[in-house]
Amino acid sequence: MTNNNLTTSWGAPVGDNQNSLTAGPRGPVLIQDVHLLEKLAHFNRERVPERVVHAKGAGAHGYFEVTNDLSKYTKAAFLNSVGKRTPMFARFSTVAGELGSSDTVRDPRGFALKFYTEEGNYDLVGNNTPVFFIRDAIKFPDFIHTQKRHPQTHLKSPNAVWDFWSLSPESLHQVSILMSDRGIPATLRHMHGFGSHTFKWVNAEGQAVWVKYHFKTEQGIQNLDTELAAKLAADNPDYHTEDLFNAIDQGDFPVWKLHVQIMPLADANTYRFDPFDVTKVWSQKDYPLIEVGRMVLDRNPDNYFAEVEQATFSPGSFVPGVEASPDKMLQGRLFAYGDAHRYRVGANHNALPINCPHAAKVNNNQRDGLMRPDNNGGSSVYYEPNSYGGATESPKHQPVAFEVSGQADSVAYDEADHYSQAGDLYRLLSKDERTRLVQNIVGAMTPVDKDEIKLRQIAHFYKADPEYGQRVADGLGLYVPEV
Ligand code: NDP
Repeated sequence: MTNNNLTTSWGAPVGDNQNSLTAGPRGPVLIQDVHLLEKLAHFNRERVPERVVHAKGAGAHGYFEVTNDLSKYTKAAFLNSVGKRTPMFARFSTVAGELGSSDTVRDPRGFALKFYTEEGNYDLVGNNTPVFFIRDAIKFPDFIHTQKRHPQTHLKSPNAVWDFWSLSPESLHQVSILMSDRGIPATLRHMHGFGSHTFKWVNAEGQAVWVKYHFKTEQGIQNLDTELAAKLAADNPDYHTEDLFNAIDQGDFPVWKLHVQIMPLADANTYRFDPFDVTKVWSQKDYPLIEVGRMVLDRNPDNYFAEVEQATFSPGSFVPGVEASPDKMLQGRLFAYGDAHRYRVGANHNALPINCPHAAKVNNNQRDGLMRPDNNGGSSVYYEPNSYGGATESPKHQPVAFEVSGQADSVAYDEADHYSQAGDLYRLLSKDERTRLVQNIVGAMTPVDKDEIKLRQIAHFYKADPEYGQRVADGLGLYVPEV
């Protein structure tokens, strides 16, 4: 039988793990108890910084299987033949709460996916909503400040939330989704996922299209009513985390069907609004959903910290066949995510088992830095170009060239229409869904201390749909301001 000795972190057997080494039975404790020193020092370092957003999350492993070959649109190898399976990892999260916060709050859910493809890892870092509150990353730190705690009271601030939203009317569509029934999913299994941004797909001939991703839950959409969600938040703050783990543990594997919308490249210049604006969807009447495949989550993590907490997803982790679009929010995220990972997990976060490619090999000249768990490239060539057989570029994988034009300037997206899609959403809801939407909004806005903020927001609801604005105004005991 192999021995099962408890050891120090340097592998030496530990004689006593219950009693510190002391001078005499009463002490004091001796500094030469190096096992104690190392144990306490490691304990002090057991946390990495919590994610500024999406701190509370649950993850699972699974696979993606192609059911419809779309290689006429993308050369991405993991999508190139029916039946092909690619291992993947998914992490779902709330956005604003801290690591220990409740799962059943009203919040968008992160929907972050890592596909371990043979051409490197492809990350799709979306949400359970097809749109977002803002559409330029320059507004993100301010927006998130309003979702987090007040600097003095350390409390959440409805004033800040609604002040920001009412002054950022592009948020109206996402606010309406958030305040609707879908703002609190019944479980992480009963919600859709979206890439949210527009991306570019490129085929083997170098022809490009714009693409949006929709992951539709096969479990069906189910939501929690507000009172039950509040009760669960108090009774079992980890309700969603527990549900996902138990479902997979019991063999009830959740499945999502991936569909895409494809827009010909030239349409982006003529569509009735800017299709790169992440506060808007592309109507499915214009660009119908096309099936691609299914994602199945069938294996729980073995270790939460190693696989979920240390997981890093970046919207910039592309593989050949998938490229960025000019979406300004996406462009900001291309920087922000990698930077967050370098701060939170470390310079070599991509070398960790959960983040490193599984079906491809890293072959570059990045060396050294904090924590290289591998051999750091050994004695291999460490620069490029070189004459010693080191890694070489592959020009065929260069992203397709694209036109840019115009004057450098700070220019907003089209300001004309923040309202029609929020109105379309309101109008597609049933009578009862509308009533609950209005109740949720009235409940959330009631604590706001300035009528000026409430009136400004009521005007936005009114412009989306007069009935919507009127009902919120009635619920708040206010009037609809002149719009
Ligand atoms: P469609 O009628 O073609 O599509 C409506 C979409 O809304 C479907 O994706 C439907 O899918 C989804 N939906 C249905 N009920 C709800 C609900 N209670 N909450 C949120 N989404 C719901 O119309 P359009 O494509 O022209 O879009 C109309 C409006 O639908 C948009 O303004 C937007 O608010 C909303 N929507 C649109 C999406 C899109 O990609 N075009 C995606 C999601 C929402 P399902 O029931 O499976 O969720």
